[in-house]
Amino acid sequence: MDNTRSYDIAWLPGDGIGPEVTREALRVLETVGSAHGFSVTATEHRIGGAALDETGGPLPGSTREACLESDAVLLGAVGGPQWNDNTGEQRPERGLLALRKALGVYANLRPVRVPEALAGASPLRPDRVGGTDILFVRELTGGIYFGTPEGRTGHGARSTMAYSEDEIERIAHVAFQRARRRGGHVTSVDKANVLEVSELWREVVTEVHDDCPDVTLRHLYVDNAAMQVVRDPRQFDVVLTGNLFGDILSDLAAALPGSLGLLPSASVGGTVGLFEPVHGSAPDIAGQDVANPTAAILSAALLLDEVGETAAADAVRHGVDATLDAGFRTADLAAADEEAASTSAFGREVATRAADSVLQNAQTP
Ligand code: NAD
Repeated sequence: MDNTRSYDIAWLPGDGIGPEVTREALRVLETVGSAHGFSVTATEHRIGGAALDETGGPLPGSTREACLESDAVLLGAVGGPQWNDNTGEQRPERGLLALRKALGVYANLRPVRVPEALAGASPLRPDRVGGTDILFVRELTGGIYFGTPEGRTGHGARSTMAYSEDEIERIAHVAFQRARRRGGHVTSVDKANVLEVSELWREVVTEVHDDCPDVTLRHLYVDNAAMQVVRDPRQFDVVLTGNLFGDILSDLAAALPGSLGLLPSASVGGTVGLFEPVHGSAPDIAGQDVANPTAAILSAALLLDEVGETAAADAVRHGVDATLDAGFRTADLAAADEEAASTSAFGREVATRAADSVLQNAQTP
């Protein structure tokens, strides 16, 4: 087995439950790594409120440099009530925005999976939602959040949704490449019946698809897409969207699994990828060893995908599913009469099962 592969991870635990959940993600990375022939070296750096307290700014230069020099960034969450009165550049969230910008990440990946074992926790009917496995590929640096002109005009105001062909092309490539490794189907979401910018979006996505005939493509209007995500989420494989529609649709779909603690994310396409749970710092449960580390652990699986350790990434996802199948539940998902697993106990269970799955696969002829 090749033992030479090693990955330098910039570990940014951040605030609240960030340190607790990312510690479990690191545990899983290290365990799967040693079962799979690679090593992971994590170096800790401050961001958000923790950085403000220590250095006076939410993204110290040393953190930025360390991230740019790393193979990947694993982040917990930023913010909390201690910093609620901070304004402008002194907000903890500014650290995260500045980091995303420094890394140049333009593709936001948000998988939404509802394992069969958790279908009962969904607000939708279990028979409709169990087995859902969607990957949202959202454009992150263009569209209406960044378009100009923007501002007040007399008694009105305007914002501009703008995309260049190049911006659409590069995010479409990400979606088709991901679809190749998954179910082979892309749904591109736009509003081409109304918006000129969506007409261009549709044209360019269709052109990119010409080079990927092994992947199927369909176009949906965003209003229909929202209805379909609730009506029949299992019909989707990869969903490709612009910034605004992706923001709304991925949050809508985030409700499907029944806990924020299950949703990972990755922001890629730039110098170095950034991997973080979708949830925030959850100050209400911080420091109690009760948070669900699954979102952070699945973010680590996305990290492994990105550095090319796809078998290990699958092993991590298998470890999560096997731990749930074995009945372990953190407090956010445990029934009233069930004993909840702590953050660290759940992380250990996933690490063991993920490593076992790697070893079993290695033994299979
Ligand atoms: P939140 O996501 O932190 O928490 C919302 C609710 O979900 C809380 O009840 C919390 O206990 C629960 N929750 C979240 N993650 C969980 C987990 N892993 N396991 C179990 N339960 C979990 O959102 P919020 O309360 O609106 O924000 C708290 C702080 O986090 C704020 O300062 C906010 O600005 C910040 N925030 C940061 C990020 C980020 O760093 N990316 C994202 C969202 C919010």
